[in-house]
Amino acid sequence: MCRRDADAMGANLDIAKGREVLPKNVKPLHYHLTLEPNLETFEYEGKVVIDLDVVEDTTSISLNTIDIDIKSTEVHSGSKLIASSPKLTYDENTQTTTVSFPDTIPAGHKATLTQTFKGTLNANMAGFYRSSYKGEDGSDKYIATTQMEPTDARRAFPCFDEPALKAEFTITLIADKKLTCLSNMDVANEKDVHDGKKAVTFNKSPLMSTYLLAFIVGELNMIETDAFRLPVRVFATPDKDIEHGRFSLELAAKTLEFYETKFNSKFPLPKMDMVAIPDFSAGAMENWGLVTYRVVDLLFDEKTSGASTKQRVAEVVQHELAHQWFGNLVTMDFWDGLWLNEGFATWMSWYSCNEFYPEWKVWQGYVTDNLQSALALDSLRSSHPIEVPVKRADEINQIFDAISYSKGSCVLRMVSKYLGEETFMEGVRRYLKKHAFGNTQTNDLWAALADASGKDVEKIMDIWTKNVGFPVVSVTEDAENNSVHVKQNRFLRTADVKPEEDQVLYPVFLGLRSKDGVDEELTLDGRERSFKVKDLDFYKINADHSGIYRTSYSPERLQKLGEAAKKGLLTVEDRAGMIADAGALAASGYQKTSGVLSLLQGFDTEPEFVVWDELTARIASVRAAWVFQDDKVKDALKAFQRDLVSKKSHELGWDFKESDGHIEQQFKSLLFSSAALAGDETTKAAALEMFEKFKNGDRSAIHPNLRAGVYAVALQNGGEAEYDAILNEYRTAKVADERNTALRSIGRARQPELIKRTLAMALSKEVKDQDIYLPLGGLRSHKEGILALWDWVKVNWDTIYKKLPPGLSMLGSVVSLCTSSFTSEKQIQEIDAFFKERSTKGFDQSLAQSFDAIRAKEGWLKRDADDVEAWLKAKKYL
Ligand SMILES: [Zn+2]
Repeated sequence: MCRRDADAMGANLDIAKGREVLPKNVKPLHYHLTLEPNLETFEYEGKVVIDLDVVEDTTSISLNTIDIDIKSTEVHSGSKLIASSPKLTYDENTQTTTVSFPDTIPAGHKATLTQTFKGTLNANMAGFYRSSYKGEDGSDKYIATTQMEPTDARRAFPCFDEPALKAEFTITLIADKKLTCLSNMDVANEKDVHDGKKAVTFNKSPLMSTYLLAFIVGELNMIETDAFRLPVRVFATPDKDIEHGRFSLELAAKTLEFYETKFNSKFPLPKMDMVAIPDFSAGAMENWGLVTYRVVDLLFDEKTSGASTKQRVAEVVQHELAHQWFGNLVTMDFWDGLWLNEGFATWMSWYSCNEFYPEWKVWQGYVTDNLQSALALDSLRSSHPIEVPVKRADEINQIFDAISYSKGSCVLRMVSKYLGEETFMEGVRRYLKKHAFGNTQTNDLWAALADASGKDVEKIMDIWTKNVGFPVVSVTEDAENNSVHVKQNRFLRTADVKPEEDQVLYPVFLGLRSKDGVDEELTLDGRERSFKVKDLDFYKINADHSGIYRTSYSPERLQKLGEAAKKGLLTVEDRAGMIADAGALAASGYQKTSGVLSLLQGFDTEPEFVVWDELTARIASVRAAWVFQDDKVKDALKAFQRDLVSKKSHELGWDFKESDGHIEQQFKSLLFSSAALAGDETTKAAALEMFEKFKNGDRSAIHPNLRAGVYAVALQNGGEAEYDAILNEYRTAKVADERNTALRSIGRARQPELIKRTLAMALSKEVKDQDIYLPLGGLRSHKEGILALWDWVKVNWDTIYKKLPPGLSMLGSVVSLCTSSFTSEKQIQEIDAFFKERSTKGFDQSLAQSFDAIRAKEGWLKRDADDVEAWLKAKKYL
């Protein structure tokens, strides 16, 4: 449980209090770990020898294990045998095995714990697990692989499974001679052992945390580059085209060199391997020197994938490589510091993308992507502070969310803007140098940044990381005195902030844009203040939206800003951010929704993709909240969307040329889909014509950039034949990205029979557990699907729960997907009643966030349903 009362979240909170950690009487120094996986029985034999520093007089050693069958245990101190079969006790709650013995090992001595054990290569994508792919003859083939973060190293072997308990590791893997064996380090030696097998021993690792260990055994193909000073390789199972790893391989080599220079720190391992894993619960995992990826996030075929897929792959690769320093070399001391890892890697991947692909203009996309997902989640009462107290292992999975990743990176962007990017990077260099191979807390980063900048960074940033939420800054004007008044209050989407939730005063960088440029110095430190503006005709707060807050203007000012946008006085980030703010403020009652619809309407001549991306997202969020409203009103909203986007879509066209830039491709794709799905006859006819050719066997008839849009249009206007054609694409396409797009689309079919088939697919053998969310996602696009999703959860709960154990974050995602699209309190009560009788451990936070999101929509509808209807009538859409 991460939830706390907001008022208990003061800045002085001792986040280390109450942590469930191992006793500190011994400290691990070195592990010699040997594992022999059997890819037929899915069992493995293991032996671990752990060298320990005895810190206090010791008669017991506690370490983490889960689902491991310990066969034998010995304890030595020096050459002396202390115990040959000591007593073992297991505590299920803390996942610890305690080894007790009668003789005391005195403080200051060394000890060695030796255990042999048996484990299972599980099918749950955690610990040491099995992952399957199809052999040439159609049979199932397996590899053994690992996912340790956050707390599943203990599922692979007995260990001191806490990030601060860094040790050195020497790994040996025993396997069939023809199989590839990989681990974090390079191979030290290979020996023939029993039954025609080989034992591969890897060189000793530097000091590292258990959650970053990895070992892989299986049949793998490989490509390699010498573009970096150390070997960089990409691996994949034989059913994949290994050449699809070329883009990631080359990018990785460039990125490693760039990071070495930027961080002024050599990558300390002897090689970098990146592996595409067929079954993978997250997107990728930054294991030191052996990064593992979901197939779609590493392998990429320029010929069959669109521009956005390429960007996603680039971001993921650069994110994982940033972790090699930030996270792996310098590690958070406990999981409440997760944001340091994830926020930084997220920020760094954008920074790096901007270096290698300046034409992608990623910092513009940041405003509509990262910033909005952070603000969306953090506007819920059930959000949590960036630095969240984490006590128990089962709480950890729930914080791998938009707060740790997106808000964390937004905070870093804010501080990098405040200090200047170069000073910020100098602080990062000092931080990495000082703490290399060690563990840190958030304050260590602030100290390094203060050191580099001479500014009191901690004082400003602590408020942002230790409190939940963010402010809305309300702006009023005094024309007579040419002055502007700003006031901050906590922002909640449900618009029901209680006084006790509105105590925190954030240091707000106002970023005042006027005709003279941007004033970066102006800040709001208290509740409110006034300042003079030379010319009230034009000004805007939060220039480029690098500050984490919403700005609420009067309707008159908003209209003026709309005009200023047309005159070219605002940047792309300003325009997109302003639309996002207006949309979010309307949804939470600060403004009327009709005002926002008018604002959107005024942007019909907008030239930039990112702004259109936000415009269409805001219309989509109104339509999603109105999904259970009267069909006439829903059709009118659709007509409004059609009117707004069609002209621009026709102007851009939907033919793709070699000369089209990265952004232009996405721009065409976005508006084509948006217009066709809103019923624009020209684009719809074009989409249906492409689909008809595709259905008749011409797979090149649909450009990769348009694939998702065309499938959606075909399903919206078709039936079983269209559904079968798309399903067939899922079943037969060779590239994971093509298959995913098909699977993601089928949920859009709304005929009852087809909805049933989609839901059955989700639980069938045809869909890997890692992809279960793909068919479900499409069902959220219509009312019939939303209702069916919830019924499906109720009926199949036990199966779903078994498939996706609560220790994995995927269960929370499925609960979210199947509940958060509702819009009324009545539906909350029904969901609540269902889960009251069941354990919500591992997803209680997702559930609470769903409820908040539903409540917010109900409030919005109550306030503005009539207002929207009146606006649609006045504009002749109704
Ligand atoms: Zn990460």
